Amino acid sequence: MLKNDMLEQWDRDNFFHPSTHLAQFARGEAPQRVVKGGQGSFIEDREGNRLLDAFAGLYCVNVGYGRTEIAEAIAEQARELAYYHAYVGHGTEASITLAKMVMDRAPDHMSKVYFGLSGSDANETNIKLVWYYNNILGRPEKKKIISRWRGYHGSGLMTGSLTGLGLFHNKFDLPLDAVLHTEAPYYFRRPDLDMSEADFVAHCASELEALIEREGPETIAAFIGEPVMGTGGIVPPPAGYWEAIQPILEKHDILLIADEVVTGFGRLGSMFGSDHYGLKPDLITIAKGLTSAYAPLSGSIVSDRMWKVLEQGTDENGPIGHGWTYSAHPIGAAAGVANLKLIDEMNLVQNAAEVGGYFTAAMTEALLEHPHVGEVRGEGMLCAVELVADKGARTFYDPAGKTAGAVVAEMVKEGVISRAMPQGDILGFAPPLSLSREEADQIVATTAKAIRTVLG
Ligand code: PLP
Repeated sequence: MLKNDMLEQWDRDNFFHPSTHLAQFARGEAPQRVVKGGQGSFIEDREGNRLLDAFAGLYCVNVGYGRTEIAEAIAEQARELAYYHAYVGHGTEASITLAKMVMDRAPDHMSKVYFGLSGSDANETNIKLVWYYNNILGRPEKKKIISRWRGYHGSGLMTGSLTGLGLFHNKFDLPLDAVLHTEAPYYFRRPDLDMSEADFVAHCASELEALIEREGPETIAAFIGEPVMGTGGIVPPPAGYWEAIQPILEKHDILLIADEVVTGFGRLGSMFGSDHYGLKPDLITIAKGLTSAYAPLSGSIVSDRMWKVLEQGTDENGPIGHGWTYSAHPIGAAAGVANLKLIDEMNLVQNAAEVGGYFTAAMTEALLEHPHVGEVRGEGMLCAVELVADKGARTFYDPAGKTAGAVVAEMVKEGVISRAMPQGDILGFAPPLSLSREEADQIVATTAKAIRTVLG
């Protein structure tokens, strides 16, 4: 595309990058990479480096890079109709078809899908719908939302509040008052090492119950959670967690929002994480895997029981006062249709289960004996390696040492991209769902070598 010797300097001088150390980047101290192309599981940068992307961008390029089927669908849509809005009953062939395809795949008790652009705005939509729902039902005091520490739900005002990671709160005056946080289902970081998994699940459930009682169940509207925690550390729930949480929510008439921005459309080896763990959510957040990030598109899938109340609301109050200019954007929708077809044709949900299982097993075998690897965990095409200073005592590294960051940097030198998760020394892996066993082997070998180089 652009051949320009000044690009790197323009980048430092003009570009405000998200989730970046702004001062170090501007001073030229923090690394920079200009990405130019991608094919399958690999990206290529401007220097000609070819890197195996074991995080699929930001766990989003699920079908892999360079799929011409999606590129062509986008180009065709842009030529035919680049834009029309979705307000007051307007749609396009692409947006209506995609809505049907999403609902065909969603759990049976879900009714309709609203399309946004990002996971953050979809969760913003969800919270508005929850508040609207309780206002229509005549219980205006039932508005608080419970999220989990280490949950990730976006970085807007409300969604950044839902996110349970300090980095996203500090100096931003977040979280907002309406948001409460409860224990993360993170067995490896349980408060007492002697707790069994079952005891820990009981502890999470009783913490939730106590929070609800303290605040008053009549004030709590919804609970939001990722089926498997993502950005908080890639943490599959302990056995029996969702079975313990859901009855508490039902008992107190609290809605469940399943944030499936990462898990939706196959990453766990099931179409949805809700199917995988037997969840019965009232809202499901989707984004990333909906288009494999070939174009921005997200969605809020609404259950039958909520939908009935939304209809009642508009009968009583007129059209719903919610929508973005780019809701259901035709180019995103065309990408979504082509992407979901490709997921089926390439059998990627099954590949995520099979190759994902192989990948985590191989990582475990390669690393578990290492004195600084505390845990290897995963589900489907998600895997994490948690590094510890002392394995026996399960003590963690001082965050200032950026131990995981050093391993990730070493891995990049060897041609593999992984991610140092933002809180704790945790290496995260979320490759494209199309990963092959050979590519899985390459990631495992590179991880093991980098850990030995950095930690001995
Ligand atoms: N929810 C989850 C579970 C996510 O992982 C993310 C992003 O990583 C979001 C919401 C926010 O999505 P976006 O970055 O598209 O706003």
